[in-house]
Amino acid sequence: MLPENMRELSKEFDILAIEKKWQSRWEGMGLYHFNWKDRTRPSFSIDTPPPYPSGDFHMGNLLNWTYFDILARYKRMNGFNVHFPQGWDCHGLGIEIQVEKENGVKKREMPPDKFRQLCENLVKKYIAIMKEGIIRLGCSNDWTTEYRTMDPDYWRRTQLSFILLYKKGFMYQGTHPVNWCPRCETAIADAEVDYEQHDGTLHYLKFAIENSGEYLRIATTRPELIPACVAVAVHPEDTRFFKYKDKRLKVPETKRTVPVILDETVDPSFGTGVVMICTYGDKADVKTVIRHKLPVIIILTENGRINQNGGKYAGLTSLEARKAIVADLAKDGLLEKTEKITQEIGLCDRCDSPVEILELRQWFMKTRELTDRVEKAANQVLWYPDYMKVRLIDWARSLDWDWVISRQRVFGTPIPIWYCKKCNETVLAEENWVPIDPKTEKPRITKCPKCGSSEFVPELDVFDTWMDSSISCAVHAGWPDSKDWRRLFPADVHPSGIDIIRTWAYYLMVRHLALFDEAPYKSCLINGMVLGADGRKMSKSLKNYVATPQVLDKRGADAARQWAAGGGTTGSDIPFRWPDVEHSWRFLVKLWNASGFVSKLLADYNADDKAKQVLQALDKWVLSKCERLTGKVTDALEKCQFNLALEELRNFTWHTFCDCYLEAVKDRLYNPEVYGQEKRKAAQYTLCIVLERVLKLLAPIIPHVTEEIFQTLYADEKSPQSIHVSPWPTTDEKLMDEEAEKQGDLVVAIIAEVRREKAEKHMPLNAKIAKLTIHSGEKTTAEMITQGQVDIAGACKAANIHVLSEKGKGREVKPYDVCFIAEYSQ
Ligand SMILES: [Zn+2]
Ligand SMILES: [Zn+2]
Repeated sequence: MLPENMRELSKEFDILAIEKKWQSRWEGMGLYHFNWKDRTRPSFSIDTPPPYPSGDFHMGNLLNWTYFDILARYKRMNGFNVHFPQGWDCHGLGIEIQVEKENGVKKREMPPDKFRQLCENLVKKYIAIMKEGIIRLGCSNDWTTEYRTMDPDYWRRTQLSFILLYKKGFMYQGTHPVNWCPRCETAIADAEVDYEQHDGTLHYLKFAIENSGEYLRIATTRPELIPACVAVAVHPEDTRFFKYKDKRLKVPETKRTVPVILDETVDPSFGTGVVMICTYGDKADVKTVIRHKLPVIIILTENGRINQNGGKYAGLTSLEARKAIVADLAKDGLLEKTEKITQEIGLCDRCDSPVEILELRQWFMKTRELTDRVEKAANQVLWYPDYMKVRLIDWARSLDWDWVISRQRVFGTPIPIWYCKKCNETVLAEENWVPIDPKTEKPRITKCPKCGSSEFVPELDVFDTWMDSSISCAVHAGWPDSKDWRRLFPADVHPSGIDIIRTWAYYLMVRHLALFDEAPYKSCLINGMVLGADGRKMSKSLKNYVATPQVLDKRGADAARQWAAGGGTTGSDIPFRWPDVEHSWRFLVKLWNASGFVSKLLADYNADDKAKQVLQALDKWVLSKCERLTGKVTDALEKCQFNLALEELRNFTWHTFCDCYLEAVKDRLYNPEVYGQEKRKAAQYTLCIVLERVLKLLAPIIPHVTEEIFQTLYADEKSPQSIHVSPWPTTDEKLMDEEAEKQGDLVVAIIAEVRREKAEKHMPLNAKIAKLTIHSGEKTTAEMITQGQVDIAGACKAANIHVLSEKGKGREVKPYDVCFIAEYSQ
């Protein structure tokens, strides 16, 4: 409803100033704080991802945050008490690498405390940049919830969850093969390994058969691992090798012999059909070693060099060793030939170095035993879009190993463990000791419970950073401090990028299932990746990269948000195209100008329900369409189909409302002396209702401009303090009128055709028509046209209209059986 004195909208449209103003006002109003005291409204909790501070709020982030901010705003207007927290997942390996690069230091060559300090400083700087990005996008986060995983208060939560899981039997220490990045010198999880196709060389080598003059030919891409060869395998049904079954082979360039084993997994068609098993060339080797109980010879050091087990190659890097051993093999006549091939290799997802497999003492979480429960829970979660759940289930099913949760890094949450110096007994921190750093504090016991010794050594490893962030659903809800945390747990929605389903969505699931025996989220909202305008992955090296500030500086957040919401279906990859942003910008200008126009036309309007009695054909038409629109937009937003909601809204606003309705009723509004005050009021009433409705429906996607227009035109002391806490419109079935829509469509089609004729004749749109004769095929059509006559006359500037219910000749109005003849005034 209109306030007493309606104000006019300014002509000038300074989007950046409008956005900045509202961002600061909203924060000042505390509009987006979760209200713990309010138990009347249902709550809605969003498991906002705490991003790695990368120092760049990039277009991918912009896409993510737009998605969940639309959802937050939509739910808030629907009467939910929305919990929209924001934290920062600080302990990334990427930060360590960046600190080393920026400061020219090596983490192993400086005191850990000092290195940690450098990491914290960099993180603070990066957080400030990203936070500005989130604010500039107009996100409705509750900043009173802000947290950083690098703060001891957060360590406390990670450490406590570890202690609880340890006591439940989910945590164990073991010597086990792990993915190892020799560049970062740390174990990494399966999820942090990217597999890529690379060119390689296949070496055909001769292995001498013991006590015979014969050789077996084997093909390998990793000859440097020969000193770690523990067996040679052939397929059990490969008749070529039956006679070698019980033989032993001499390992070239060593003094050892190894057995020939039969293994089903050997591909007889690859290379020579004979495979060298080394510890470890790849994950297949790990499985073969376990199956056949083979010995393990570790040949690589943690920085990727050959160790003493490599004999004369000790001290060389893998690559140097490969060259050296190939030269030796050639010299000894054991290298038959080489062949170029393409092979899949695993790369560290932080630094792109080839990943090795080492056998090391690490901490693990028993995740594989949870796989069935992960699958069951994933099937109960609502996925947007639905087919994404398969990604989580397939990933869980594909895992060969438990989750390795220890990292040989500095910048991470300390593992709250000590070992007895004398008997090596593990001492776990008590729940009330945390946060604690075992490197600087002793365990709070005087004696080892096993041997009585009083000397302890700390665990030096830290947790994988996913150990911090994979308890976010519980932490966001207030665990472990709030007694009320179950109120917000499980989270109503967990938003995730398609690329981190295998990490974030998965780790959250296993952690919470293990800790609380409950799935952490009820629904999962997936966003795709942002592509460059050329359809390729957006990247600086491909020169298709667009920085977020470029977009926000040029066209503002409300245009950028439209690009994100409208770019494609939820979960699909979305290309960034400037024309989409420009189109969005033009929509804002259109909305602004139309609203300004309406504000002028309504300057003398006082809300009056009597207007309902005199609604004209087009008034009923647009009101009915507006009701239909409300239903469609609500339905789309309920299903997180943001692009559909935006498309409906832009179509309606641009075409139905601005181009058709506004243009058609202008005349009625300007000339009450011709059409009568009542009919004018009917149009004013309609404009007032429809514009407010459109603003509210657009508000979740376009928060700033809608707020500015709403505050100027509609807000007064009696209305909500912001459009964003105003109630979401509901559809009024009574106002939906199919007949009125049909009739209006016909009237609009006639007006459009008359305008088209004027354009073709190079006449101005306001060219006067002395007489407009409209032939309709039947009586009912003629009646429909007659009822819309007021607006046809106004929009077409027709002084006289003759509607005839018989067929005639003239310009056709498709797809109707209607035609007209316009006689223009001289
Ligand atoms: Zn690495
Ligand atoms: Zn002891």
